[in-house]
Amino acid sequence: MKALIIVDMLEDFVGGKLANPKAQAIIEPLQRLLARAREEGWVVVFSNDAHQPGDPELKVWGEHAMAGDPGAEVIAELAPREGEIVSPKRSYGAFDGTGLDEQLRERGVDEVVITGQHTHICVRHSSYGALIRGYEITIPRDAVCAFEGVSEEDALEYLKATYGATVTTVDELVGAPAPVSA
Ligand code: ZN
Repeated sequence: MKALIIVDMLEDFVGGKLANPKAQAIIEPLQRLLARAREEGWVVVFSNDAHQPGDPELKVWGEHAMAGDPGAEVIAELAPREGEIVSPKRSYGAFDGTGLDEQLRERGVDEVVITGQHTHICVRHSSYGALIRGYEITIPRDAVCAFEGVSEEDALEYLKATYGATVTTVDELVGAPAPVSA
């Protein structure tokens, strides 16, 4: 069983306090992947920052995605549906103190497709969490993004080399036909 994990596609990370201009470009591919995941009955997970005052990471970034604030909401384009897992986290990794591993195991998940932001921070730490818990890891390169000025290729290479992630594309995952060459 596959799970699609969408990391931190929240108001604060797309257009808010920690806005990333690169995030706009991954919304459309993510919508297609999410639609396919729903059609095929994958487990869908929204791994969302939901900070409490005093969370250690806030020393680095300042306040963002505070639990209950509008900035901590998933963007409307990717809104969770009933029955999908909304998994609040208070640090970078989707598996860190969240109970997500147990929720996935209950549903028979053995492969995680990790998407969202940021390739070199939360996607990376979530991939580490997935590796050490024995999940196969797939990363569609057009459904993740790093900060501007951070090499996307280096970030993806790290996931491949260090966590054994399969780096692919949304088209490949949704089974879209390859473009016909003239
Ligand atoms: Zn955070």
